[in-house]
Amino acid sequence: MINRRRFITASAFTSIAGLFSKRSWASEEYETVKGKPVVISTWDAGLNANKGAWEILGKGGRALDAVEAGVMVTESEQSCCVGLGANPDREGFVTLDACIMDEFANCGSVAFLERIKHPVSVARRVMEKTPHVMLVGSGAQQFAVAEGFPLEEQKLSADAEKAYKEWLIKSEYKPVINIESKKSTSFAPAKLQSGEYNHDTIGMVAMDTNGNLSGSCTTSGMAFKMRGRVGDSPIIGAGLFVDNEVGACTATGQGEDVIRMSGSHTVVELMRQGLSPEAACKKAVERIIKIKKEKAKDIQVAFLALNKKGETGSFAIHKGFSYAIKSNTVEKLIASKSWFQ
Ligand code: ASP
Repeated sequence: MINRRRFITASAFTSIAGLFSKRSWASEEYETVKGKPVVISTWDAGLNANKGAWEILGKGGRALDAVEAGVMVTESEQSCCVGLGANPDREGFVTLDACIMDEFANCGSVAFLERIKHPVSVARRVMEKTPHVMLVGSGAQQFAVAEGFPLEEQKLSADAEKAYKEWLIKSEYKPVINIESKKSTSFAPAKLQSGEYNHDTIGMVAMDTNGNLSGSCTTSGMAFKMRGRVGDSPIIGAGLFVDNEVGACTATGQGEDVIRMSGSHTVVELMRQGLSPEAACKKAVERIIKIKKEKAKDIQVAFLALNKKGETGSFAIHKGFSYAIKSNTVEKLIASKSWFQ
């Protein structure tokens, strides 16, 4: 029987003015890549995911197919934070969230989905085969099975198993996303020890040779979350948004704070007003900092965006977020700028 756990709140008081005076611009490697096709995705897992997407984009295929295939690579990887082997909720169950959106504003999403290997593909079926956008829980699973997705046995990865066992010792309810800056280098994040990650989502946005945009997002969400908790990742407008006239954005980090300001939609609307992807992501981060006040220091959120010109950019609250890019001319991991150093 698991006891009620307390939420951890911010400790030290910091004034808003203080937060804003600490603004900083990382001097790390950064570039804006233009052109098509191009695919970008969150964190270092994005390097492999982009390769999967490139199988399609590189042959002139559709961005929608690319973003599905790309994140399926990560869903198959048995990582800490994406797919069936990922960190479970605090009852020990892996529950998955995913969504997908295409150039026509078609979108599909699944949340609180269990025992299905490729939630992103179920999200695509929701988009293509139902009149709805979102299916959740047992209904989503029932739909997946009816669509021919096998019901798998949950099998935690060795890292997730170890992290969960360690977490059970204290069973502290700590829905605060860890801050990578404490634990990783500024570029090419270090491989963290088991249990040190408690989140990470693969979010991917791409533009194909026809200039069309699509995006996808898939995750097990916050590690050791309350049973039934759903984050931003399957919420269209929060974890992902695509507007084929303007650009696309995906988010990672503390989902609750992305949802409360419709993060990815906000970034796309800022790009519509003429901001570059990086400037739009930065403005969205500033909005979270304004809302969270001193508590912003204790959370990580990062946005990653692509505009219609094929320019990319990102911005995070804390140092440590990186994104992977692949185009005809570049394939690398880029360290994001951040508000705090
Ligand atoms: N945004 C995800 C969630 O809140 C977690 C993450 O991206 O790290 O579920």
